Formats: sequence, C-alpha cells, structure tokens
Amino acid sequence: MKKVLSVLGLGLLFVLSVVIIKTVTNKPLSNLKEVQLEALPQNAIAHMSAAIQLRTETPNDDYQFDTATFMSYRKFIETAYPLIHQNLPRTIVDSFNYIYEWKGTDTSILPMVLMAHYDVVPVEASAIKLWHAKPYGGEVKENYIWGRGVLDDKSSMISILEAAEAQLAKGFKPKQTILLCFGADEESSGRGATAVVKYFKSQNRKFDLVVDEGGEISTEDNKSIKAPIASIGVGEKGYVTLVLTAQKAGGHSSIPATTTAIDILSNAIAKVSQNPMPTKLTPPIEAYLNSISAYNENFFEKMALSNLWLFKSSVVNNLSKQPTTNALIRTTLVPTVFNSGVRDNVIPTFATAYINSRILPGQSSKDVYDYVQKIINDTSIKITYYKNYMTEPSPTTDVNSKYYKRVEKAVRSVVKDVVVAPMLMVGATDSRNYREVSDGVVNFSPLTDAKGYHGIDERMQISDLQKCFNFYTLLIKGE
Ligand SMILES: [Zn+2]
Repeated sequence: MKKVLSVLGLGLLFVLSVVIIKTVTNKPLSNLKEVQLEALPQNAIAHMSAAIQLRTETPNDDYQFDTATFMSYRKFIETAYPLIHQNLPRTIVDSFNYIYEWKGTDTSILPMVLMAHYDVVPVEASAIKLWHAKPYGGEVKENYIWGRGVLDDKSSMISILEAAEAQLAKGFKPKQTILLCFGADEESSGRGATAVVKYFKSQNRKFDLVVDEGGEISTEDNKSIKAPIASIGVGEKGYVTLVLTAQKAGGHSSIPATTTAIDILSNAIAKVSQNPMPTKLTPPIEAYLNSISAYNENFFEKMALSNLWLFKSSVVNNLSKQPTTNALIRTTLVPTVFNSGVRDNVIPTFATAYINSRILPGQSSKDVYDYVQKIINDTSIKITYYKNYMTEPSPTTDVNSKYYKRVEKAVRSVVKDVVVAPMLMVGATDSRNYREVSDGVVNFSPLTDAKGYHGIDERMQISDLQKCFNFYTLLIKGE
C-alpha cells in the first residue's frame, strides 16, 4: 500500500512539475526588428472623406445598382489615384468589380491579393436623428472620420489604394505580382466576388496570400490580458437555417384536443434549446488559446491555457459560459422565427419555426440536420432546409503557414506590443470565394475597437487610417 501511495505521489509530482514548467516557460514572442513606418499621405484623409460622400449603397435583391453613383465612384478612384490608373491595368468584372494588376519582377511567385468592398449598407431613415454627424457627410472631427462605410469597408479600399499609389510614386517595383480587387456588392449578394473568382479560374490563376476585411484589434474586454489583441480571421463558420413544421387538425378553440400544432412545435423547440450541439475545440481556436496564453497575467488562467493537454475540458467549459466565446467552440442552434395562428378563437393546423445555425469547421449542414432530427425525435415534425442563404464552413488557413506568419509580422510591426491570435469568423465575407484559388486567405485590417458597423455613428479613428496604410504598405513592400 505504501508503495502504491509513493508511486502515486511521484506521478502527481511529475504532472505538477510539467504543468509549472510549461506555465513559466510560456513566454511572449520576442520583439521584432523595428521597421521604418511611412507617414500617411497628405490627401489620404480627404480621399477617405470623399469616398464616404459617394453613397454607394449596396444593390438590392434584384441587383439594381445606382449606376450614376457607382460610376462617380469609379471616376473618383481614377482621379484620386492617377498613378494606379495609369500604370496598373484594370479589369472590370460584372459591371462594378475591379481588378488592378501590379506585375511583379519575379513571376515564378504566385501573386498576392489585397481586397476590399466599397458598397455600404443603407442608413436607416428613422435613425438619422441619432447620428452625431451626417451619415454621408464624410466629416472629420474629434480625431475621427465619420460616415456610413468608413469602417465597412472603404477604410480598407482607400488604405490599399493610398499604399499602392505612394509606392508607385517612389518608383517601387514589387517582386511578387500584387492584385488589388474591389467588390461592389459584398453587403448583398456577393455576386461580384463570385464572378471575379470565376474569371480567375477561367484563367487558371492561383494566389498566394489573400487579405480581406474581418479580424481587427481589441483593447476592450481582454480581462487578464493588458495588451491589445489583434484577431486574424483564418476561417468562416457555415450558415444554415432549418424550417420545422408541425401539422395537427385544428378547429374551434372551445373544444380543443389535448395537443395542438403549437404544442408539438414548442416542445420540439424546447428540446433543441435544452440540448446544444456538443462543444469542439477546432484547430484555429486551439491555436488562438495558445497564442494568447503567454500574455495572460492571471497565473491560474495562464497555467490552464499553457497546459491544454490537462485542462482542455475546464477551459472549454469556461468558454461555453459566454455567448461570444461559446460561438467559437460550438455549432450554434437558435430559434429565430415562430409562426402560427390567425385568430384568437381558432386552433391552427400548422405551426412553423426557423432554427438558425452557425456551423463549426469540420461539420456540415447535414450534420446540423441530423442532430436536430435526432434531438426532436418526433416524426410528426417535418424538417426542411431554408434555401435562401446557406453556406458550409470554409476551410481554415493554417496558423503555421507563411501566409499567416506574414500578416502576423506586418501587424506586429505596425502596432506596438500587440498580441496576435487567429480567429474564427462568425460572419461571411467576399474572401470565402477565394479559398478556391488560394490556401492563404486571411481576414484582417488594423482597426481598433471599431464602432458603428451597420449602425449609427460609424466612424474611424484617424490613427487607424495611419495603421491601415502602414499595414498594407508593409505587405506591398514584402517586409
Ligand atoms: Zn464588409
């Protein structure tokens, strides 16, 4: 017995030593060699402001562009960036999507793509009075540039153009061919990006790094980490909606049957809510936890994050407690629509509900369907796919790849003491199409605690315009 106890004690001591050693040796990344950052070009702020004043609202469902405005925007780009217009051949795809090609000196390297979209979501008429600036005024005040689209996503487009124009002015010739791709309908159909990628495929083109909007920098809510965190999107969750329909003979509400269509469906919805899909730590999120672990200032949290081999289940359990982190480790299911009944004294024959799901990489819409069917376990409920918009989770970009490392380096060169970590995106962007032609799609632009996306008071810090400009400049220069 004594022997067993001492073996157990030794084992425990060994585990404890490994845990402590892994915790204390988990050190932040060493500093990078400082690079010289360039000053923001003189006209950059005025260009940003002018871009906002052109109301390039996203075309509606039947793809009706406000042609005059989109043409004015084209003219504006041609005039504001004369060197790009003169030197980089432009291809126009599907009316208003642009590809500018900057030939590199070494054509054996696959080209890099810097992309953005310039359509914007409309401003809600009833909310205009809540704005602190004119939504399309392009006002510059209190160290911000204000207006619809300044963050999403004209900040990226203007910064990319400023960076390219400035390098052309200096006579810079890139080694790697660089494509600047700008989309006109990301906020609606995304048809433009699909057409552009189809065009690339028809030419058998493949790409190296592709950088699009998505991940950003956060300095808020990082409880145990004091440094800003830059989240680089490396994959997108999928999207599917299931339609659940219950049918039961209705009739007069004065003589009800024991169960109604509403009862059957409510019961099913309750089962789904009470039985979330199991948690799963996917490679991007495991890499995210690894990346931030060294910077955690709470010893016990750092210990758990540095030893996922031992503490994985408690870490995952903790993540599942907050909606934002829960969404990273689970395929989520949530009822979003519930319809039934026409009159207060009529028992309805049908009840219908929608369950919206965001799917983790490695799972599929079919997995979601099968899971919901199993949990409900009621053959009287018909389950179908809501086809309007459905997309499977994207493949993910490897965080050890040269693509990710290149963006990580650029971010760390532009933002002091930043923690860079991969992230799974819960929304969809134009760049998902590019995964067919590149293994290196990442989503990032160095906006900090950005506010007002699709809502009121959309605004960009002027210091962020500087950061975006520097970020794209480093990528263009290949530094
Ligand atoms: Zn966007």
